[in-house]
Amino acid sequence: MSFDPLQTADRNYSWHPFTSSDDDLGAGPLVIVRGEGEYLWDSRGNRYLDGNSSIWCNLHGHNHPRLNRALRDQLAKIAHSSFLGHSNEPASLLAKELIDTLHGPAPLGFPGSVDRRHLPSRVFFSDNGSCANEIAAKMAVQYFGMTGQPQRKLLVAFANAYHGDTMLNVSLGGVGTFSRPYESLMLRREEDGHTADSPQVILVEDAAEFSTLAETRGAQIAAVFLESSLHGAGGMLPHAPGFMTQVAQGARTCGALLIMDEVLAGFGRTGHFLGCYAGGFAPDFITLSKGLTGGYMPLAITLAPEHVYEAFSGDYYSGRLLYHGHTYTAHPLGCAVARENLKIFQEEDILAQVAQKIPLLESGLARLGKSPGVKEVRSIGLIGAVEMIPDKCRGDRARAICLAARAYGLLTRPVGDSIVLMPPYCISPENLTLLFEALEKAIDSIT
Ligand SMILES: *Cc1c(COP(=O)(O)O)cnc(C)c1O
Repeated sequence: MSFDPLQTADRNYSWHPFTSSDDDLGAGPLVIVRGEGEYLWDSRGNRYLDGNSSIWCNLHGHNHPRLNRALRDQLAKIAHSSFLGHSNEPASLLAKELIDTLHGPAPLGFPGSVDRRHLPSRVFFSDNGSCANEIAAKMAVQYFGMTGQPQRKLLVAFANAYHGDTMLNVSLGGVGTFSRPYESLMLRREEDGHTADSPQVILVEDAAEFSTLAETRGAQIAAVFLESSLHGAGGMLPHAPGFMTQVAQGARTCGALLIMDEVLAGFGRTGHFLGCYAGGFAPDFITLSKGLTGGYMPLAITLAPEHVYEAFSGDYYSGRLLYHGHTYTAHPLGCAVARENLKIFQEEDILAQVAQKIPLLESGLARLGKSPGVKEVRSIGLIGAVEMIPDKCRGDRARAICLAARAYGLLTRPVGDSIVLMPPYCISPENLTLLFEALEKAIDSIT
């Protein structure tokens, strides 16, 4: 097979994340050159439906007129200036507008059951979800160190959890495949009943195990990390009803800070503006990234509680400052797009549109559930997963099906044995049907 110049350049010079060298099964690199709504085009002119929202982040479609304009308008003013020690126009407005959507008189999609006063209200910017989580951990541990509870150092996370790829997050990760090669770099973990020397991270299986831990060693816990609504990279596994609430109660009772990782679930993915709204509680920290800019720019936010922010206030010589910042923290282009994204949510009633499409995703999945080789279908909001029965003779079946689906105009990736179906919210009902048909054909061609 001959490659075009873009494919040749990619093959010869690029190194791709979470990608093995035979990941295209010999078909050659797929290079995206254009997008429009829920469609993507590659360098050979093939058109695809964006079946996983370009790795779980695109919300309103590609080449979106409003988001494009927001980006261009900001670009005409300034592309980047530093956020260390001073601010920029779109970041200062975005922080206010985001807090208004949580605390203001007309909160986006807010259920009455949560006491909004307890939601976090300070915005700390970074540029990806991993950083947003790592920053929350640093804030929590430093906060307790500065407020007379230096013994609170433990970080707790759950089996199957994924919080990102930097080493602190890898240490918190519950997916062994992603962490095994880097064990020597990880924070000390306490696992499988073996008590390591003063562990820094404890992974727990479920809410019951967490409750026990909170009762016995609650005074040592600084923070509990919880993926909102589902374990995403761990297999698109929706949490059992009551799970998040139980964890939140346990964290509150033992005085630990609850860090709600909304990087995937936030911005309407589960049907709620924030996934944790479904649990009827207010977490201490909320981290946001994937949908924050509608899938346009690398930008992330750690939302922190006011009392934690206040503990960091003091003069220059007090040392009470957060030692974390990136060159591109609060990037003006990203913040400008994120502001427009928030406006789109408000003005175009995106949550209602998502609500209309959820039943279509569910019924399509239910039909696919009867296909040969399918073990189970699952969904939460506009996140669907088709788990295949592993076929060890022919390699990883889910991966082979995703590659075969390209020929039928569908682009997506699996997590483990589960094929992810997570289209942009803007997908038309007709294209949602085509997406399922494409996957069905791909399953038939492989199974
Ligand atoms: C993707 C993801 C992250 C990591 O975000 P990056 O921007 O890829 O670093 C963290 N948590 C969850 C739940 C995610 O899905």
